[in-house]
Amino acid sequence: MRIGIIGAGQLGQMLGFAASDLDADCCFLDPSVAPPAAACGEVIQRPFDDADALARMADSCDVITYEFENVPVTALQRIVDRVPVYPPPEALRVAQDRLDEKRLFDELGIPLPPYHAIDSREDMEDAAAKLGLPMVVKSRRLGYDGKGQFIVRSADDVAPAWNALGGQALIAEQWVPFDFEVSTIGVRDAAGDVRIYPLTRNVHKDGILRTSCSPVDESPLSDKASEYMHRLLEHLDYVGVLALELFVRGNNLLANEFAPRVHNSGHWTIEGAVTSQFENHLRAVAGLPLGATDSCVHAGMINLIGEIPDAARELEHGRLHDYGKEPRPGRKLGHITVVADTADERDALIGKISRTVT
Ligand code: AMP
Repeated sequence: MRIGIIGAGQLGQMLGFAASDLDADCCFLDPSVAPPAAACGEVIQRPFDDADALARMADSCDVITYEFENVPVTALQRIVDRVPVYPPPEALRVAQDRLDEKRLFDELGIPLPPYHAIDSREDMEDAAAKLGLPMVVKSRRLGYDGKGQFIVRSADDVAPAWNALGGQALIAEQWVPFDFEVSTIGVRDAAGDVRIYPLTRNVHKDGILRTSCSPVDESPLSDKASEYMHRLLEHLDYVGVLALELFVRGNNLLANEFAPRVHNSGHWTIEGAVTSQFENHLRAVAGLPLGATDSCVHAGMINLIGEIPDAARELEHGRLHDYGKEPRPGRKLGHITVVADTADERDALIGKISRTVT
């Protein structure tokens, strides 16, 4: 089995490591020089929409998947008649546009914060009047890790927000004073079999994920999150891993966004679940039976952003994953996973190690 993976970053690298356990070969497409996944297989160093490179992958691989969300959907559509492409390009198309994504949540009855599309300065003022302040203005396309976002806290912020982001399609959302954030990660195969990982609690700072912990003892929330995940997977006739990020307010969940790929908030599954999200994604796209998604321990993850301090290499109770990337401010360079017998022990370890390495 040869699996083509578009994108060769850390997600590609972790997919590549999982592929070797399944005795599958990987071939990656990525324009960067020496990307993290180069450790795991051939990398075709061409742009993501390079027609020749995609044709070569389509001809030499049994299935194509992607680990990067900004792959042009048209590039995938050019090869779908030649080779199976999972997750379905339609899921990627919706995820690439925050307005389409929110309309899908609405259509599927998945609660979400009130929102307003913005194409002009007047729309931004209308949004502020309709949603109330604070509101967060986001680019509809190509935003990630909080990039392309502006929080409008008062009427005086409307002009700076428009100056910073205007000129592209935007969306405003009501600011949610959430209790905390969670993500649910599910996997579906082509026959419709679905498995869902235990709920993960996430902490973001400046729009970037910092820590994740799972399982969290929130059963009413878990049931709702699973229900929403099922609706998305089935509606999209989805194959592969899908992550849905949600805000928690009391007993309610509000959808923020979904990612049609393996997800940073699921890295803990490598050490913490019976089958990792990476292996299950490959199993789903390759037509192998899905593995169990149960937790086997209380797991937590700390992202290493901008630098990997020496202390991260000397931990007694933390496993370092170094993606081998050049340090750069704001860049995800690696992560540390901790495992423990109880949630309290895990949370204490996460607190202690976070203070040492971030
Ligand atoms: P996003 O890129 O949309 O996932 O946003 C990154 C992070 O910014 C989220 O995980 C939240 O921590 C925060 N955020 C985004 N949108 C909102 C919102 N409407 N209300 C409160 N916090 C938000």
